[in-house]
Amino acid sequence: MPNAEGGLTVAGLTAACPECDAQVAIGDDAEVGEIVSCTECGADLEIRGLTPARLEVAPPEEEDWGE
Ligand SMILES: [Zn+2]
Repeated sequence: MPNAEGGLTVAGLTAACPECDAQVAIGDDAEVGEIVSCTECGADLEIRGLTPARLEVAPPEEEDWGE
């Protein structure tokens, strides 16, 4: 599979937290849709993009009380 990055290696990717503007570290193998937690405010953030890295507050998980 061809590498779209063209050999550019991105290590230690970070993106600004939309809640508190802190730089949140994203794993360099992270994927869009993954949930990361802000180390500053503890918000759950969904990765919305990687180039550039973009974070969005994840919707709160619905409690499922069973069927
Ligand atoms: Zn934050």
